[in-house]
Amino acid sequence: MQQPVKYWETKSLEQMTRQEWESICDGCAKCCLHKFIDEDSAEVMEEGKEELHFSNIVCSLLNTKTCECTQYDKRSELVPDCVTLTKDNLEKIDFMPPSCSYRRLREGRGLPSWHPLLNKGKKSEMHKVGMSVRGKTVFDRDVDMNQFEDYIVVWPLADLD
Ligand code: SF4
Ligand code: SF4
Repeated sequence: MQQPVKYWETKSLEQMTRQEWESICDGCAKCCLHKFIDEDSAEVMEEGKEELHFSNIVCSLLNTKTCECTQYDKRSELVPDCVTLTKDNLEKIDFMPPSCSYRRLREGRGLPSWHPLLNKGKKSEMHKVGMSVRGKTVFDRDVDMNQFEDYIVVWPLADLD
């Protein structure tokens, strides 16, 4: 049987078609977590190199079971902070977690074994190995955002080949 073409091994992100680009997203939803810039590091580091802290506070528009946005088509309109990564704003990739599949490809690390593209299009392996946000979050509508320090977590920084 003919093996599916692993286009992500032969094309750069910039060379991918829209459909190929979209399929690179593993659907982990870590980019839907609220992040905070460490103000002390922002003062001493170059612009764009600030230290980012991830929290377990997630956008209330996320379906936390499937890790899918419930308002995907209107997300930028409804949530101005929602980062939609495109070929034109790849510099924003530094705001993505290390396990983000776009970031992995950009940094030459390839796709991980749990990625849906390597698992018949299914997200179950990703959930199983704990690389998505499923079961780990609280909604932003339910927390006092002034208390964000109480919600800082390190698990979004984890990566696994
Ligand atoms: S972190 Fe990257 S791979 Fe994961 S859902 Fe967001 S854009 Fe997709
Ligand atoms: S609007 Fe959708 S894609 Fe954007 S952060 Fe919220 S849940 Fe995630």
